[in-house]
Amino acid sequence: MYISKSFIPILKNNPSEAKIKSHQLMLRVGMIKQSSAGIYSWLPLGFKVMKKIEQIVREEQNKIGAQEILMPTIQSSEIWKESGRYEDYGEEMLRIKDRQNREMLYGPTNEELVTDIFRSSIKSYKSLPQLLYHIQWKFRDEIRPRFGIMRCREFFMKDAYSFDITDEDANFSYNKFFLSYLRTFKRLDLKAIPMAADTGPIGGNLSHEFIILAETGESKIYTDKRIFELESEDTKLEKESLEKLRKKFEEFYSVTDDKFNKDEFEEKVSEKNRLKTKGIEVGHIFYFGDKYSKPMNASVDLPGGKKDFVKMGSYGIGVSRLVGAIIEAKYDEKNEVMKWPISVAPYDIAIIPMINKNDTSTLDKANLIDIELKKNNIDAIIDDTEENFSSKVKKMNLIGAPFQIIIGKKTEGDLLEFKEINKEPQKIDLAKIIKILKEQKAKI
Ligand code: ATP
Ligand code: MG
Repeated sequence: MYISKSFIPILKNNPSEAKIKSHQLMLRVGMIKQSSAGIYSWLPLGFKVMKKIEQIVREEQNKIGAQEILMPTIQSSEIWKESGRYEDYGEEMLRIKDRQNREMLYGPTNEELVTDIFRSSIKSYKSLPQLLYHIQWKFRDEIRPRFGIMRCREFFMKDAYSFDITDEDANFSYNKFFLSYLRTFKRLDLKAIPMAADTGPIGGNLSHEFIILAETGESKIYTDKRIFELESEDTKLEKESLEKLRKKFEEFYSVTDDKFNKDEFEEKVSEKNRLKTKGIEVGHIFYFGDKYSKPMNASVDLPGGKKDFVKMGSYGIGVSRLVGAIIEAKYDEKNEVMKWPISVAPYDIAIIPMINKNDTSTLDKANLIDIELKKNNIDAIIDDTEENFSSKVKKMNLIGAPFQIIIGKKTEGDLLEFKEINKEPQKIDLAKIIKILKEQKAKI
């Protein structure tokens, strides 16, 4: 892709309205455009990153046996009245009336709708467990939308729901998602720590928030530093090993604001390991038993002929928020250098040929390189403009493809100037570059 033909509206300076670095960068390189308060259009660069995150989230849901569905954004108020949340949810819910004067709403979450889907078809314990998920837009009329897509009103979320009959099985389902979240965030090159959390308006008794550390985060956290040293190693999808994995994390005191208890913190964590800081919530998992299945009468036949309400959990990941969270974790705002993890980078590599009117041989070379890269599924962006070298590099550093090839007048023969962002440049041939990138991409 030529930069001159791309829709990447780069701003010369940081937009003054953006208070945190992810918002700054996203506006600066035109990843998003606000359409009204807390509502954004996603432009090509931002959309590419979000779609890659979505795909990783999807793959990791599929790996634990969750099945993808797609529920609508607009829901009927009826099911929310059944669960009792229509009144409780308050002003965050966007309520709409259709032409028949029926009360509708733009879904802020989907427990009711998925319970309705479940109860209409699943009648026997033999069909359990059921793990269903979808990746869909949500709307919450946040009182103070801010920080760009980090806290906005319309956002893209993966929400999954589990249905089981015993507490033990439900716990197994919960742990599957616990593992899948660790795997997902690892592939995004994020250190997201599971922290015991309150269940809030969703209700229930077991809950973890997955949080990445960031000064600009809105979640206050209290934790034992040693939890950051834990490797989120992979584990078999089997009851005991999954329980062990969760227990390994739970051994270290690590909670969000609403679960915080000063005495407990000081008793369980020695002074040198205490960390009180802020983070960004990127995922949240809940177990809430029959909180929805009971009022909504979602039950199945048990082995002995009796019936019981299913036990449910729900599991969210902020797919669009993750775009900002990755920037918060990876963007060096002082030097204005972004390095996307290769797993979600909008482009794998940037090609920067030095071009002037009389001599476009470097662009020809860039084109030939691009042909070879394409054959190997490597996605490149080429700066085909005649701007000076430093402004070209500056631009590419903001766009954040993790690798760069620089083609100057002195580039002769087979050796190219190749650079991984934040590392020293090296002179190597294209075959080697392709090998490096393929290896990196294979690890995703
Ligand atoms: P928060 O405490 O940040 O408001 P929440 O507890 O209300 O989050 P959940 O209902 O658990 O969020 O939603 C699942 C995920 O959706 C969150 O972990 C977060 O990543 C994302 N999310 C929630 N609200 C927003 C929002 N207003 N804008 C962007 N992403 C959001
Ligand atoms: Mg919220």
